[in-house]
Order: sequence, then structure tokens, then C-alpha cells
Amino acid sequence: PLILGIESSCDETGVGIVRGRTLLANEVASSVEEHVRFGGVVPEVASRAHLQAIVPALERAAATADVDLADVDAIAVTAGPGLMGALVVGLASAKALAAYLNKPLYGINHLVGHVAVDLLDHGELPMPSLALLVSGGHTSLLHVRDIATDITELGSTIDDAAGEAYDKVARILGLPYPGGPVIDKAAQEGDPTAIRFPRGLTARHDMEKHRFDFSFSGLKTSVARWVEQRRLDGLDVPVNDVAASFQEAVCDVLTAKTVDAATHLGVGTILLGGGVAANSRLRTLLEERANAVGIELRRPHPGLCTDNGAMIAAVGSEVVRAGLAPSPLTISAHPGLPVSQVVVR
Ligand code: ATP
Ligand code: MG
Ligand code: FE
Repeated sequence: PLILGIESSCDETGVGIVRGRTLLANEVASSVEEHVRFGGVVPEVASRAHLQAIVPALERAAATADVDLADVDAIAVTAGPGLMGALVVGLASAKALAAYLNKPLYGINHLVGHVAVDLLDHGELPMPSLALLVSGGHTSLLHVRDIATDITELGSTIDDAAGEAYDKVARILGLPYPGGPVIDKAAQEGDPTAIRFPRGLTARHDMEKHRFDFSFSGLKTSVARWVEQRRLDGLDVPVNDVAASFQEAVCDVLTAKTVDAATHLGVGTILLGGGVAANSRLRTLLEERANAVGIELRRPHPGLCTDNGAMIAAVGSEVVRAGLAPSPLTISAHPGLPVSQVVVR
């Protein structure tokens, strides 16, 4: 099927067009520059930027894909989770298009998009799989038995998301927002063994209750204390070493727990998704550790890891293929939509 995908859950306005599992267009307009001086996404600013960006993005995507929007088989749009004011812009646009063009509408779960986007790069996803979803607002391990209908959460972060930890540590180090890409880069010049930062929820007594859960707020506090002590001692802060050591702590825990969960479930494939899946260390360490126990890793190329419309179109394609009924035109945005709900009704 020819699917139009619209994404507006945070600060990226995304429009993607796919035919089956083939990517035809992926236009992303980010308002990140407007949020930099606030050190994080400002919801009102994001909403206004979506309003300005959505129609031009639709036009560019149609031109790039060389399709007439009247020819799409369905319209897929992010219905949640995300910022209410941001979600409603994409949702209203998608509803208007669906009504005007008389096309079925699918309200899609943004998090499932992060997992499904890999099939645009590497084709059908082997099922069942274990997915590690690591993004700005979420960090969880998912048992994926069917991408369109059957996703359950094994565990998740009990405090900060991995991306959130990157963003906070960047701020502590005086690096700009968003912190993920800058820390990734700084870490390449640093020594990951310079400082031994804590690995959250890996102690034996934590593993009993939280084997498949994560915690990054203790790590963030530990980095803050270490940096503060250096400054009190009148010493320079070795930014690259702190970045590399922090990143090693995050990636060590993420990969160890993911491989443990995949082994526990007996699945042969791990799927990696979400903005933090663009991280160079996470990508190589997870591949190494998965392959060491005979598990295949599937991960989208870095450009598809952060928010975009193609990932929503990718889910749309799978739910249409699975024969799921469209969403009513009356659906609303769901800021806290759980990952198990792939299509909103
Ligand atoms: P969610 O998907 O949970 O709703 P979101 O959509 O805001 O949250 P994403 O766009 O999926 O989040 O990811 C953004 C996050 O990814 C930010 O926290 C950013 O710092 C992080 N990130 C991006 N690139 C990298 C990288 N190379 N290394 C580490 N983190 C990264
Ligand atoms: Mg973003
Ligand atoms: Fe996201």
C-alpha cells in the first residue's frame, strides 16, 4: 500500500511516504534551534513551529516521492505519546486530509514507529523479537510478537529516560541541547575507563525486582557530583573523559540488560530503536554482545532513529497489511499512550 505518515509529537514536524516497505520520501523540519537557548523543548514554541511547517513538509514529501496525495491508500498519524499541543497539529492536519481525500485514517503509536522504522532499511522484521526502545522520553524492553497487534513491555526506566540522561549530563558539562549527539562526539576523544560511574539497577538485590528495568537518575547525580568536586578542587573538568565514562555506563547497562532479556525470552533477534539508537557506542556494543551469544541485531541507520514521518508511515503500512480497521475521525491525541496500543481507537 501507498501510505502517508505524519509526525508531530515533539519538536520535529515529519512527513513520510512509503510504498509497502520502500521509503519514497521523508521530510523533517525541526524546531530544535528555537529551543536551544531554553535548554529543552518549549511546548508552545513547538506547536507554533508545527503549524508553520506542516503544509510545506506535505508538499515537499509529495514532490520528492513524485506522488499525488490523492493516490495514497491510507494516512497514518502520530496520536501519542508526546506533547498535547504538538500532537494536535499533526492529528488535525491528518484528519482534514483524510476527510477531504476520503482516505482511511490510522492514529499510530509514536514508540512503535521507532521500532518499526528498521523495516524500511532491512525489510520484514523477524518475529518474535526483543526491542530496546531508547529515546528522549522512553527507555524500555519490549517483547514484540507482532508489530501490528502484539507488543508487551518487559521493563522500563523507573526514573529518567536514556536520552533525558544524555541531555541532562550535557547541561552539567556546559554542552548544548540536545546532548546526545554532542556527548557521542566528545566521548570519541575521551577515555571510557577514566571514571567508574554507577550502573543503575544491576546490583544483585535490584536484579530480583528490576531485572528488566533501568534507572539513570543516580548516574546523572553521580556525574554532577564528580564535576562539582573537580570545580571545588580548582581543577579543570576533563569533558571528553566524563562524556566517554558516562556513555560507557549507559551503554553497558542498556546492552547487558537487553541481551539478558533476549536470552530469557529465547528470541533470535534484537531490534534497536529511538533517538538514542543513533549513538555510535550503543550500536557497536550491542552488536558485539548480541553476536557473542548468537543473536542478530537489527538497527535502522542513524538518520531514521530520531523522530520522522517515515517511521509512522512504516507502522501504517504494517497495520494496513494486517487488515486492521482504521481509526474513527473523532480520535483524540493521547500524551501518555502506552506502547502496547499500536493503533488508537
Ligand atoms: P519519545 O520518542 O520518547 O517520545 P523524543 O521523540 O523526544 O522522545 P527522540 O527523537 O526519539 O525522542 O530522541 C531524542 C533523544 O535522542 C534526545 O534525548 C537526544 O539527546 C538523543 N540522541 C540523539 N542522537 C543521539 C546520539 N548520537 N547519542 C545519544 N543520544 C542521542
Ligand atoms: Mg526531537
Ligand atoms: Fe521519538
